[in-house]
Amino acid sequence: MHPYHGHKRDEILEALWTMAEDQLQTNADLAARVESTRLDTIVEEMIAEGDVVREGDKLALTEKSRPRAAQIIRRHRLAERMFCDLFGLEEQSWEASACTFEHILDETVTQSVCAFLGHPTVCPHGKPIPPGACCNGNHKPIEPIVISLKDLKVGQSGRIAYITPRTTRRLSRLVSYGVVPGSDVKLNQRYPSYVIRIDQTDVALETEIAKEIFVRVERE
Ligand SMILES: [Zn+2]
Ligand SMILES: [Zn+2]
Repeated sequence: MHPYHGHKRDEILEALWTMAEDQLQTNADLAARVESTRLDTIVEEMIAEGDVVREGDKLALTEKSRPRAAQIIRRHRLAERMFCDLFGLEEQSWEASACTFEHILDETVTQSVCAFLGHPTVCPHGKPIPPGACCNGNHKPIEPIVISLKDLKVGQSGRIAYITPRTTRRLSRLVSYGVVPGSDVKLNQRYPSYVIRIDQTDVALETEIAKEIFVRVERE
């Protein structure tokens, strides 16, 4: 083992994960994301230990390293959600903290945060959050404070935390009704369609769309 490279190694795993999402694979792409004068040496060590695979000039995660990379990405993106949804902070004030938190959160805390936020599937940038053991819906130790609009009770109010629309067309339609993060909404009806009151106006939504709107509810 190479104890002094632990943190850099995590950074490399994280970079390889996000590079794959962005269709980037080369050494140069990695060097653009991870700063280290010893990058080549560390990558060689990781290849030797089966954490990184190189084919031609392309680098990738392996079956062995993917679960750990997923954990790091998961913690980072949950931390982003936490700063964004719970504390309502602007991105510039939480980006650095999210990077710190991904190294601090242990598995138990991560699961509590995940449940607390309603097991979110995307980060504030719209990137997928790898699911954890808590996300299968079988056990909910903590009642989430951010829930899908479709799970609101009639008469319940909240503030829109984030929206995960399947299409940009859908998003622009929602925006035109004022259905945007930060807006206060109240659910007035569930059947036959969802009707929310937003800014003195009633807006009817299909279930499919209601599912994609996440609301931060006030706890009594
Ligand atoms: Zn993000
Ligand atoms: Zn979860």
